Amino acid sequence: MPSNIEVIAGPGCPVCILPASEVDAAIQLAKKGVVVTCFGDVLRVPGSHGSLLDAKAEGADIRIVYSTSDAVKMAQEEPQKEFMFFAVGFETTAPSTAIEVEHNPAGNLSFLVSHRVVPPAMELLAKMDDLELNGFIAPGHVSTIIGVEPYAVFPEKYGLPTVVAGFEPLDILFAVYMIVKQLSEGKPRLENEYSRGVRWEGNVKAQRLISDVFDLVDGKWRGLGTIPQSTLALKETYKSYDALTKYGVTLEDGVDSQPGCRCHLVVIGKIKPDACPLFLKACTPQNPVGACMVSMEGTCRVWAKTASIPPAR
Ligand code: SF4
Repeated sequence: MPSNIEVIAGPGCPVCILPASEVDAAIQLAKKGVVVTCFGDVLRVPGSHGSLLDAKAEGADIRIVYSTSDAVKMAQEEPQKEFMFFAVGFETTAPSTAIEVEHNPAGNLSFLVSHRVVPPAMELLAKMDDLELNGFIAPGHVSTIIGVEPYAVFPEKYGLPTVVAGFEPLDILFAVYMIVKQLSEGKPRLENEYSRGVRWEGNVKAQRLISDVFDLVDGKWRGLGTIPQSTLALKETYKSYDALTKYGVTLEDGVDSQPGCRCHLVVIGKIKPDACPLFLKACTPQNPVGACMVSMEGTCRVWAKTASIPPAR
């Protein structure tokens, strides 16, 4: 990559932006005796006073699942117990939650819906003058669902070249080339580099599922605050499956950041992970202090994989 081009990671990891308040709510549910089911990464995301993994170590019944349907099956097989599925992820995973809800799962299963949608967060970044962005590489996985059109606002309103890209190194290099070309021509536009995976209109069936089951509401993102119309919530028709309503748990203001943690700056690309004083000192992949060190997709975790770790004293 030429030295005058810098590619920075944005808020593209669902675990990194999961607010502590929702982890706290999941822990509360577990303490009420509800069996909490979640994806493996979610287990280690810090809440205000510990993670789901800590709650599990203290005896709570918290189980890792590999899909939403695993949680549905568990609830069917153990009708004497109450189950909750912690539904985390962007537009990519929201359809798999939606389809299970639409199929009316057993009444002993509820959902803590934490799905977020990506374009509103990108718009927040586009408005931050001090980030000095020249263009966006839009996420391929999310775009397989939503298509390309929802990013039109970025070239049209903010003058930012925007290219949907795949995940191979060549995809990224080619997307960078497409952005640089647009910049040199002075013509920002929306393009799809990942046409082998992303249709311009996206996956219409999955979009319909999402809009049938969820409403778009304002929601909190860890490190970014509340973003209008960025979060999915169960529609009134499906409210009986809403874990918070069912068990009378409310989302309190959580503590998103431990002292010294710079996740809020890493997640918007304002600083690199090694500018955080805790990076590979107090915060490591084995003992993550911040959410960006938890998932394989987290920026700090990615950096930790390639960083040279100082020898222990
Ligand atoms: Fe947060 Fe840890 Fe990254 Fe620091 S090194 S920003 S504490 S995840």
